Amino acid sequence: MKILINGIQSNLRFSSAHIIPGHDSCGFIHGHSYFVDVEIEGERSGDFDFVVDFKEVKKYAKAICDELDHRLLIPVYNNLIDFKDFDKEHDSIFNLKDKKTAYFRIDDKSYSIPCVDCVFLPLPHTSAEELSMFFAETLSRKLSENYDNLDYVSVCVNEGIGQGAQFKKHLRD
Ligand SMILES: [Zn+2]
Repeated sequence: MKILINGIQSNLRFSSAHIIPGHDSCGFIHGHSYFVDVEIEGERSGDFDFVVDFKEVKKYAKAICDELDHRLLIPVYNNLIDFKDFDKEHDSIFNLKDKKTAYFRIDDKSYSIPCVDCVFLPLPHTSAEELSMFFAETLSRKLSENYDNLDYVSVCVNEGIGQGAQFKKHLRD
């Protein structure tokens, strides 16, 4: 059986700024009001014969939304972002979080931004595609701590109404 959570109606939303380095129109810092739809399929089980407790799914998904909300999303593993004082091959992403200011270049543009204004993500892009994978992986990891009856966790990250990317994380064959 499948459960569905509608992001707009369940308040799984966040408003963030991002940049797609190298892209003609999205290569400038701009924002979206995102919302996140979740679909989970699995066998019903437990005392209540649930697939999964809605409340728990919403709690975990909301926590991810809250972490990204009102921040500039920076994809640390983007090839075009060149950080000063940070070696993406060897340094931990936590080193960036602990700094006061992030300095980086994208082509001929240089940026210096307070780290508290940013979320540094271990991703090559902050596209809807990559964000949906990030949500599905993170949510699956959390749910797997309490559930072993789930077939997949699928997350659609919508960049406003009308366009989104959906990724399905399979949890068993
Ligand atoms: Zn965008």
